[in-house]
Amino acid sequence: MNRKNGKVAGKLYDVTVVGGGVAGLAAAMTAGRLGLQVLLLEETVFGGSVAVIERLEGYPGIEATGGWEFTQIMVKQAEAAGCLLRESIKVSGVRPQTNSQFAILCSGKERFQSRSVIVCSGGSPRALGLQEEERFARRGIHTCAQCAGGRYKGQDVAVAGNGSFAARAARHLLELGCRVFFITGDAQISADVQLVKELESRNGLDFMGRTHVTALLGDDFLQAVEVADLASGGTRKLAVAALFVFRSLVPNSELVEARRDAGGFLTVDTNGMTSLPGVFGAGRVVRPDLPVEVMVGDGCRSAIAAAAWLRKRVEP
Ligand SMILES: Cc1cc2nc3c(=O)[nH]c(=O)nc-3n(C[C@H](O)[C@H](O)[C@H](O)COP(=O)(O)OP(=O)(O)OC[C@H]3O[C@@H](n4cnc5c(N)ncnc54)[C@H](O)[C@@H]3O)c2cc1C
Repeated sequence: MNRKNGKVAGKLYDVTVVGGGVAGLAAAMTAGRLGLQVLLLEETVFGGSVAVIERLEGYPGIEATGGWEFTQIMVKQAEAAGCLLRESIKVSGVRPQTNSQFAILCSGKERFQSRSVIVCSGGSPRALGLQEEERFARRGIHTCAQCAGGRYKGQDVAVAGNGSFAARAARHLLELGCRVFFITGDAQISADVQLVKELESRNGLDFMGRTHVTALLGDDFLQAVEVADLASGGTRKLAVAALFVFRSLVPNSELVEARRDAGGFLTVDTNGMTSLPGVFGAGRVVRPDLPVEVMVGDGCRSAIAAAAWLRKRVEP
């Protein structure tokens, strides 16, 4: 078994996985189990966005579990499959070379050689694009209720956006005793039926359909938001201690020069290969946020495709 953070420079890897979220960990483990030499490079800590999810629900075959526990099992499985996993190393670029290899350029001037690459670098939450948003970041504006919700226990807060992650955030905030304004441009909450029923049966949820946030107000910390009605254009000020934003993602796709769609997501074929032969993409760098189980499957599938692609190159 390889050691975490061991010395790896100079060696040629079969597969280098960029990003240690669930898609990357699944890709690494699958490629390792197929007998490939795998290096995984993670900018921060293993687990990605799932590591901070308090309660992971709906994963087939697994009862509800914590995101941290779930991802740490994936780390162990990838290590047991012989993969070398490194944290705190940012990949700055993937460059094709003339000899059918890729140079993986990293922060701190480290570089690695690889015969194929699976990009699983995820994405960052898209901002609302309002004035003062940066100033209030983590001073009332957040993108993760499970991480920051605890400091607003029992207070009035708002969730902006829609979808199952926004709905789960609202539930979490209600469980913390908050009054929650659910601000969405849609006419209803869009999440699984059970969750919507649960939210509707709880006290403390103020659903504000067909509205959107137009201004952020406060001194050092957010104190209120201005909300506009999409139909009438009329505005209303809501005093809230925090706003949890759930919009689409900005994919971290810049590190590879491959084709992207209008939203910046890497475009891939049915095997997960990008327009750059030998470079695959998986997880939320190729598609908007979907549940963990989809991203895990995506990572596994790309690893299988990468192995087949490598095999064809040695056995034409
Ligand atoms: C607020 C929120 C709540 C969610 N709640 C749920 C939920 O309850 N249930 C559920 O099923 N799903 C949930 N999801 C979706 C889930 O988080 C995603 O499906 C999953 O995280 C996608 O995994 P990923 O590996 O593609 O990306 P990420 O988890 O984003 O992982 C990408 C990794 O790549 C690393 N990285 C980025 N750039 C580089 C680089 N240049 N070099 C090296 N490493 C890099 C990042 O540090 C990160 O660790 C939620 C998502 C959000 C945003």
